Amino acid sequence: REAEALATELTLVADRHHEPTRLPLVAICGRPNVGKSTLFNRLTQTRRSIVGDEPGITRDRIYGEVEWAGRDVRLVDTGGVIPDDEALIPAEIFRQAKVGLEEADVIIMVVDGRTELAAPDIELARLLLRGGKPIFLAVNKMDTPELEAGAENFRRLGFRNVLPISAEHAAGIGDLLDEVWAALPPEFVAEEPEEAMEGFEEEFEEDMDGGGDPLPGAQDAPDEESKPGRRLRSHGEHISRETKIAIIGRPNVGKSTLLNALTGSDRAIVSPIAGTTRDAVDEVVTREGHDFRFIDTAGIRRKGKTKLLAEKLSVIMSRKHLEAADVALLVIDAAEGVAAADANIGGYAHESGRSVIIIVNKWDLMTEVGPDGKRLLDGKPPADQKVYEQQVRDSLKYLDYAPLLFVSASESQGIEQVFKKVELVARERRKRVSTGSMNRFLDKIDFQRASVPMAKRVRIYYMTQAAVAPPTFVLFTDRDVKLHFSYERFLANEIRDTFKFIGSPIWFKVKARN
Ligand code: GDP
Ligand code: GDP
Repeated sequence: REAEALATELTLVADRHHEPTRLPLVAICGRPNVGKSTLFNRLTQTRRSIVGDEPGITRDRIYGEVEWAGRDVRLVDTGGVIPDDEALIPAEIFRQAKVGLEEADVIIMVVDGRTELAAPDIELARLLLRGGKPIFLAVNKMDTPELEAGAENFRRLGFRNVLPISAEHAAGIGDLLDEVWAALPPEFVAEEPEEAMEGFEEEFEEDMDGGGDPLPGAQDAPDEESKPGRRLRSHGEHISRETKIAIIGRPNVGKSTLLNALTGSDRAIVSPIAGTTRDAVDEVVTREGHDFRFIDTAGIRRKGKTKLLAEKLSVIMSRKHLEAADVALLVIDAAEGVAAADANIGGYAHESGRSVIIIVNKWDLMTEVGPDGKRLLDGKPPADQKVYEQQVRDSLKYLDYAPLLFVSASESQGIEQVFKKVELVARERRKRVSTGSMNRFLDKIDFQRASVPMAKRVRIYYMTQAAVAPPTFVLFTDRDVKLHFSYERFLANEIRDTFKFIGSPIWFKVKARN
């Protein structure tokens, strides 16, 4: 019940953060009893959170404001209610981490410096570190200078910024705040929207003259943050030859068998993310100078207890794995077809902005025929790939951009093409179309063909690709309206016809010119 109450509270907090507010947000994360509330109270100088010794105590307040060095920041204590049921721990940790990762500008993870690291510390650290946000490890309960040296031991969690503090004795708090504040996004300078747009357009025009280099101030590079008024959210991958892959899907579709097939034939380097132990295992396969990093392979192999729980857990794990990935392999059991849970997981993959490849596994079961020429599986005629693919696509319409492969993981059939496709979609999602060719393309589109009601139509003056991974386009239009669904789809299809972006969703943002 307490967990539920907190969940509701967190949702409320999360909702509030969607309001247009200009204060940056700092999230305090950590397992129960490490001293989060004490730190929270110290910073907000209130006693509104209840501090207590029992883990999992409900807080009446998890949200506050801090002023430091002349700047206001919102603070959220993400709680720390860990249910007793071990199977639910990843879910709870994941949910907390998600709030931190999605909403916060900077994260403070708190650990208890006087106790051994516990599994939840490690799991949480791993999730938070993968999120790519500025992050600080506060080693708490370092009440005396002698104890402070011990904070260094916690570097093995993988954090670069480690600070000893004593929340109770107010030691180390100033240093922590200095560091955290330095990592905040630059202060928002209030600009009239029109003015902001004018600047944007000027840059755009320069850009056109300059032959269509990426739009300044609207790139996926981290320094886009230096122009907060124009900030476009993106997943900001850096160009690298490593591709992070999540294998996702329901229980028993063959995820771990596929993982074995993919990593088995080549020498797999088991490489835990720095400073973590136990569960945190990725496997990297290097082929032709390209690293394929399979995310959290221990998580892929983990088996749930009951069927229902296993299925729920598979959805949670899929979402968790998506967070850390560039490319998702959505595995489906050929003999079972697309089930509701597959569609559910596929939906998350689509929304996550990751590239997706649909893997129809166990294809051997659909083609293995007996002496009578009928399938051994069910006595039907051998399945046809074209027909089968159509059925899958009808059930996963929103993933129309995802390539589909037929494999048999247990027979190691079709494994080579998985690597090829991963490499292709990884390249495609980072592709950038110059503004010049984008607008030459735009000139040629026949918008009359879009089946959109007249009233819902917008005029697009020009467009530019503002980000990669996933490719994100900014449309400069005559009206400030959300794009009609079919209009967006029409445009995405046109873009794909010309520029492909195989395997990746395409995102749009609309900016009214006036
Ligand atoms: P939370 O569950 O992470 O929010 O932890 P609390 O803030 O409720 O603190 C758990 C326990 O640790 C409480 O008994 C606190 O009094 C104690 N505590 C918190 N900070 C410190 C500290 O800096 N030094 C010491 N010695 N104890 C602390
Ligand atoms: P996971 O729960 O998604 O990781 O699924 P597993 O990899 O544990 O596989 C579930 C079951 O499907 C096991 O009995 C596997 O041997 C079987 N399996 C996996 N891949 C194939 C395949 O390509 N063909 C057949 N016939 N069985 C497979």
